[in-house]
Amino acid sequence: MIPQANPGAGYRALKAEIDEAVARALASGWYVLGQEGRAFEAEFAAWLGLPHAIGCGNGTDAIALSLRGLGVGPGRSVVTVSHTAVATVAAIEMAGATPLLIDIDPVHYTMDPDALRRALEDPPPGVPPIGAVVVVHLYGQPADLDRIVPLCREHNVAVIEDCAQAHGARLHGRRAGTFGDAATFSFYPTKNLGALGDGGAVAVPDADLAGRIAALRQYGWRKHYISDEIGVNSRLDELQAAILRVKLAHLDACNARRRAIAAAYSVAIEGGPLAAPNIRDGAEPVFHLYVARAAQRDAVQARLKEAGIGTGIHYPVPVHLQPAYAGRIKTGPGGCPQTEAASREILSLPLYPELTDEQVAAVCAGLRGL
Ligand SMILES: *Cc1c(COP(=O)(O)O)cnc(C)c1O
Repeated sequence: MIPQANPGAGYRALKAEIDEAVARALASGWYVLGQEGRAFEAEFAAWLGLPHAIGCGNGTDAIALSLRGLGVGPGRSVVTVSHTAVATVAAIEMAGATPLLIDIDPVHYTMDPDALRRALEDPPPGVPPIGAVVVVHLYGQPADLDRIVPLCREHNVAVIEDCAQAHGARLHGRRAGTFGDAATFSFYPTKNLGALGDGGAVAVPDADLAGRIAALRQYGWRKHYISDEIGVNSRLDELQAAILRVKLAHLDACNARRRAIAAAYSVAIEGGPLAAPNIRDGAEPVFHLYVARAAQRDAVQARLKEAGIGTGIHYPVPVHLQPAYAGRIKTGPGGCPQTEAASREILSLPLYPELTDEQVAAVCAGLRGL
């Protein structure tokens, strides 16, 4: 079976370099917030093209810390999509804010700017004033920032880009994460830039915001042992930072390999029951996932399994319909019909840079045989 994701292959491909980095971090005698972490933050910020990056414990904390850093908490709503990892929504509630979930555009699976405009102009009764929008670059494809960012500016609402699936994606040549007030990243092992454990980061253009988030991630300390405000403990450890420095140097090549595999799938899929993903005009996606779509999704998934091809569904139940959220969290005007339809029809094919040419050919043959 060709698995849908394979973080172990990502380790084995760089084993010598990673083992050396881990040995160096272990030998340093300093394991949390030390020189590996500082070096990774500087290298990651430079790679992204922003002046500040702050490592933290995971991508969920990165969103919660950004909201808190921007002063968006209790008494404020935060708009995001229901078609996302539940983490996006969990983070909003961790920051004390109220999520307001809106629909996607069914062509690109990212936030529908018209749904956002309706939510900003005519929010559902009873929701607190909107303080921020978390725009998710789902599957590695930039959302419609050309429309979303100006709408947020017009309404004086902060923009956080959830880049957990989009390390390195570009829109009009500019990296996703450099359009808003804060960009958040997850380094969960299967992400495009994956640690061998948990990790995350926030990247921001503003120095004061960077300082505030850096304090919030460690008990609100600006000076050791003195809390200026109530913080949390969410730090990137030295082992993961050392591993991420190795992986960052290979990230652009890994993303190029993901794009090449995706292009091969999109040719093989033609004429069959699955529809290929669409690429937004001006976008260079990084294919965290290759998500195809079919009305008869479950039957297609079963046939691919018989052919030895593992698949996934990202995500099978929209956040607003999950038990922890249903009936409690509000959706925007018009609800989320496109989200609900997509969740029944989407299918993620195997996609990671270490897929061999033979494995890619086998997946393509399976797609042609559908
Ligand atoms: C993975 C992911 C997160 C959360 O990251 P963790 O590191 O698992 O906390 C948030 N948003 C999206 C879109 C993700 O894919």
